[in-house]
Amino acid sequence: MQIYMSPTVGIVTLFVGFIISAAIRAPFEARSKKVATIKNQRDELEVFLLVMMAVGLIVIPLVYALTDVFSFADHALPAAAYWIGVLFLIAYLWLFYRSHADLGTNWSVTLEIKNNHALITSGVYSRIRHPMYTSIYFYAIAQLLLFPNWIAGAASLLAFTLMYACRIAREERMMAETFGDTYTDYARKTKRLIPGLF
Ligand code: SAH
Repeated sequence: MQIYMSPTVGIVTLFVGFIISAAIRAPFEARSKKVATIKNQRDELEVFLLVMMAVGLIVIPLVYALTDVFSFADHALPAAAYWIGVLFLIAYLWLFYRSHADLGTNWSVTLEIKNNHALITSGVYSRIRHPMYTSIYFYAIAQLLLFPNWIAGAASLLAFTLMYACRIAREERMMAETFGDTYTDYARKTKRLIPGLF
């Protein structure tokens, strides 16, 4: 029986999850690009946050996979961590898909209000206000469990926590300005990331 997980298996598993989610997003992105944007908050902060996300989700994992510059931060992970990581990756893919399907053309990479933007409060949005962000946290936890390295493992968790902390109040303010009481009522009835909790 294998006691420790192999780094290569963890790396390949996470990359497969990443590629599947890019394929999930592609058709939604193509559709929402066709809808005009009415309000756009793509400022320097948003661009900086997107660059940090690319570093945490793509650059650092690739450097970890292809070089040994982070080897000083290697640590051993039990084989069980691999399987829990796989479960988080599956949960990520499901919730990432569901939140794209529910948001439809209202989705955008940065903070935007689209032409005929509809406030979605159904599907996974009936339980929490930010299911896509919850799904990205699932991915970040999967990375922590699949990469036996402190730096590469924590990279997405740190990058996304920075993005979430800088973005969430602005996003909710933009939604409240656009949808008024309908949004504030919705916000009163739902939590942000974890149903009933947080
Ligand atoms: N924060 C959400 C959506 C992320 S995509 C989530 O985590 O699931 C970001 C865009 O989604 C924002 O520009 C905003 O215009 C839009 N958005 C966020 N919540 C929405 C909702 N409930 N209905 C419609 N659009 C929403």
